[in-house]
Amino acid sequence: MPVRYKDYYEILGVPRTASDAEIKKAFRKLAREHHPDVAKNKKQAEEKFKEINEAYEVLGDAAKRKKYDELGPNWSAGSEFRPPPGWEGFPGGRGFSSRGPRGEEFEFQFGGTGFSDFFEQLFGSAGRGGGAGGFGRRGGVAEDNFASERGRDIEGDIMVTLDEATRGSVRSVQVRHGVPCEHCAGTGQRAGHVCNVCGGTGQVAKTETYQVKIPAGVSEGQRLRVAGRGEAGIGGGKAGDLYLRVRFAKHPDFEVEGHNLIYEAELAPWEAVLGTNISVPTLNGRVNIRVPPGTQAGQKLRVRGRGLPQRGGGNGDLIVTTTVEVPTQVNESERKLWEQLARESQFNPRQ
Ligand SMILES: [Zn+2]
Repeated sequence: MPVRYKDYYEILGVPRTASDAEIKKAFRKLAREHHPDVAKNKKQAEEKFKEINEAYEVLGDAAKRKKYDELGPNWSAGSEFRPPPGWEGFPGGRGFSSRGPRGEEFEFQFGGTGFSDFFEQLFGSAGRGGGAGGFGRRGGVAEDNFASERGRDIEGDIMVTLDEATRGSVRSVQVRHGVPCEHCAGTGQRAGHVCNVCGGTGQVAKTETYQVKIPAGVSEGQRLRVAGRGEAGIGGGKAGDLYLRVRFAKHPDFEVEGHNLIYEAELAPWEAVLGTNISVPTLNGRVNIRVPPGTQAGQKLRVRGRGLPQRGGGNGDLIVTTTVEVPTQVNESERKLWEQLARESQFNPRQ
């Protein structure tokens, strides 16, 4: 099943030669602009926000960016994409098609997960059998004389915003996959002719929509199980399960570490020396924190309980990491003050 090429550089509006810092900056700017919580047209913003997130998920990660760049610069956005010959997939990424229990090809496509089919093909877990060993077969032991087999599990990624992880949500997810053609009973032939419904492949695509509950307190990488929504079993075997692997959407303000949120706060040199009060964002409004005198760059200030909720109850923390920014230009009177400080200060950082 062909997918459409995504030009992640174009989405973030940066050249292919952009540095990591430039990419991060472009992402932050766009993510703030299109964050569904602030935008006026929420639906449109949500689509754009997901696209930006996906682009940053790839370009903001050195290994994924390298793999993406290996595809070469000659693809244009929206063109039909198939990985070039000899292109080795990303660990975790895989094509959609995989062999089903009867040896037929199944193809998967997901909708409503927040990730494009292009992303899933290159970097996602779409279509991966979740079963133990082989092609995800389970329960292959014949309980009676029939080879009754449990259907394969299907696994895909789902993009979850930090807001959803905090409050929980219900998402509508579409799974498109191949099912046996009813017209020819999956044989591809009908009355000695090629079946005109499935074109001889023996299967047709079917899209099913499931409501998936995202509980508050989910964590990155957690798999949400939707029981019985994997591939159908055969010979009376039970259906497999659908698993959706949680991947947090990148946030313009926070990094996530477990259940803690990391926020980087920039300080002026005099603020670091003298101490100050600053306002920092949380997922639930801003809070004021005290920066003590003598704060170093890289120091961590902890705001208890303002991180992500944990499943067992309680919340992680917001950790404010400080950086000290230095003015690159000073006017005449500022220069005089810095010069006076340089003459009078007893401070020597190299002693
Ligand atoms: Zn058919």
